[in-house]
Amino acid sequence: MSTPLNKVIVIMGASSGIGEATARLLAERGATLMLAARRLDRLQDIRDAYPQADIRIKQADVTQFDQVEAVIQEANSAFGRIDVLFNNAGIMPTAPLAAGHREDWKQMLDINVMGVLNGIAAALPIMEHQQAGHIIATDSVAGHVVYPESAVYCGTKFAVRAIMEGLRQEQRENQIKSTIISPGAVQTELYTTIKDQTVGESLRQAQQEWGLTSEDVAQAVLYAIDTPDRVSISNLIIRPTQQQ
Ligand code: NDP
Repeated sequence: MSTPLNKVIVIMGASSGIGEATARLLAERGATLMLAARRLDRLQDIRDAYPQADIRIKQADVTQFDQVEAVIQEANSAFGRIDVLFNNAGIMPTAPLAAGHREDWKQMLDINVMGVLNGIAAALPIMEHQQAGHIIATDSVAGHVVYPESAVYCGTKFAVRAIMEGLRQEQRENQIKSTIISPGAVQTELYTTIKDQTVGESLRQAQQEWGLTSEDVAQAVLYAIDTPDRVSISNLIIRPTQQQ
């Protein structure tokens, strides 16, 4: 049996997919958790599955700074510190630029980019005060490579990678770590957020044929979290073996 993970971890976007799998893995490892997302019923199911674990849940939309701040403040008041913030929320309503889906572009920027920045803004004062902490963001292979029909989604993930690398450089002397998790295709509900029929069909097919499971990615998050203070895992790329 492995040693319990004695850490307070906040997960934004914990209600399904990678966030849910990470929450479940961390609960099994004995971590203290604050789980947030918009779908409270899904968070309740996760909490109820681990009666022995110390898990709080809170409804929050990552685009609303006051809601993100309330999650962080409640975790800090309840548990006395925050060791890790996992900024994982994201959507992917991809389509060719020519489709001109400006509302989807704005929503992607608000959730995928501003959501991460809101988490950083809320947690950093606490972590600076602690002179310790760890912020993790779910980026993507799409934060390293641009795919056609995914320009805006890729743009949000390139932005996340730049922001998280900037955070690492600015905060290393405060002992605050920054980790970018960059998965390839993962079998999750994310693919239901694609609105373009043709794009959606080919992406869904590939993901179902050879995509990673959320549990595969959760293991990578745990690996980054469960490191000594001197070790900073700055970027992990986890591709399905068959992905280009
Ligand atoms: P899911 O759709 O299963 O999970 C997305 C999570 O984000 C849910 O918990 C959802 O919760 C949350 N979320 C979305 N919008 C908001 C919001 N406005 N406020 C709060 N939470 C929100 O997909 P994944 O697990 O795949 O996605 C997780 C991350 O992984 C995303 O950042 C995605 O871009 C990234 N990623 C996914 C890949 C894949 O192939 N699946 C590949 C690479 C990266 P709720 O709806 O309840 O609010």
